[in-house]
Parts: sequence; C-alpha cells; structure tokens
Amino acid sequence: MVTYTEKRRMATRKGRLFIISAPSGCGKTTLCELLVKGIPRIARSVSLTTRAPRRGEEHDRDYIFVSRARFRQEIRDNNILEWAINFGHYYGTPKRRVSKLLKQGMDVILAIDVKGAMKVRRHCPGSVLIFVAPPSIKELRKRLKKRRTDDKREISKRINTAQRELEYLPKYDYVVINDNIRRAAERLKSIILTERCKTQ
Ligand code: 5GP
Repeated sequence: MVTYTEKRRMATRKGRLFIISAPSGCGKTTLCELLVKGIPRIARSVSLTTRAPRRGEEHDRDYIFVSRARFRQEIRDNNILEWAINFGHYYGTPKRRVSKLLKQGMDVILAIDVKGAMKVRRHCPGSVLIFVAPPSIKELRKRLKKRRTDDKREISKRINTAQRELEYLPKYDYVVINDNIRRAAERLKSIILTERCKTQ
C-alpha cells in the first residue's frame, strides 16, 4: 500500500507559478511580502527593470535595476522569461532564477502586468493567474496620491493604465479586491493553499 503523506507529496512536487497582476498602487508589493512570510515553500521572483529606484526601494530586493543596454542584452541572450514596456520602462522576469526555484519544488510568485501574465499563461500551462483589484478607481487615485512617489501626470497615466488592465480581469483564474491589506493577503493565501491541494 502506498502511504501518501503531505510531507512526501511536498518533497516530490515541482513548484508552480502564481502570477499576481495588480494596477500600480494596489498594494502588490506588500501583499507579496505577506505571502512569502506567511506561506512555506514560496518565493517571489525579482524582476529586472530599467526604471529608477523609488524612495525606499532596494536593488535585488524590490527590483534588479539595470540600464536599457543591459536589459536589451539580457533579451538577446534569452535570459528573460517574459518582458513588457510599462510607463516607458522595460520590466522582465529573469528566466534562470525562476526555473531554479521551480526545480527545487518552490512555488514562485511573479508580480507582473497583464501583458506579461498573458505571455506566461501561453508558455507555462498550469500557472495560476490572480488579479488584485482596487475597490474603486477613486480609491486607487487616493492611494497613488498618498504614496507620494509620482507626480500628477504620472498618477493620471497610472489611472488610465489601471482602467485598461481591469479589462483583462475575466482572463484571470481568481480576483481579489484589496479593500483591506490583511484581508486581501488572507484571500490570496487561501487561493495558493487550495491550489496546492489539487490532484492535478
Ligand atoms: P512599478 O513601476 O509600479 O513597480 O511597476 C509597473 C508595472 O510593471 C506593474 O504593473 C508591475 O506589475 C509591472 N511589472 C513589474 N515587473 C514586471 C515584469 O517582470 N514583467 C512584466 N511584464 N511586468 C512587470
């Protein structure tokens, strides 16, 4: 008789990709941090970007900040799993880091935009797509202003992009409304733990 313990199941499984897309200002960074702290065997992929670091952001923790020339070279060298241009800057997922984690049996969170999410869905079947939405556009504008990292023009750009991104919501497997950060983190955690219990 085969004994099928949870420990054994976790030891032999390959990791899965959890894609979290959220319009800018929806608390994606905080949510990812809470998930990584609150769930065993999960890590967040750190993206490459050509945009400048914001106040409080750290190289290699929040993003790998690189020049445009370096980013383009990484694309040519086929080191990027998916990439997109957002607000005039390149953003991309480093391939090697992600595949190493998956092979180790770790689940990996990719906090990426809707275009990137659609590419990953096409190339990596089995990945789980979760959309984190703001309670309203009005609330999102309030949060972006409060963050004080972007000027008025940049905030308008981000609001327009958020409206376009919300159109992709039906293409996602799950939606979580971030009306309260702790509650949203709990919902995300339940989704990940439920997905881990699936037989296939
Ligand atoms: P922000 O500059 O506000 O950190 O991010 C801007 C947008 O870029 C967000 O929608 C974020 O999810 C997206 N983004 C961050 N990293 C990646 C990535 O590696 N790939 C893609 N496609 N989008 C990313």
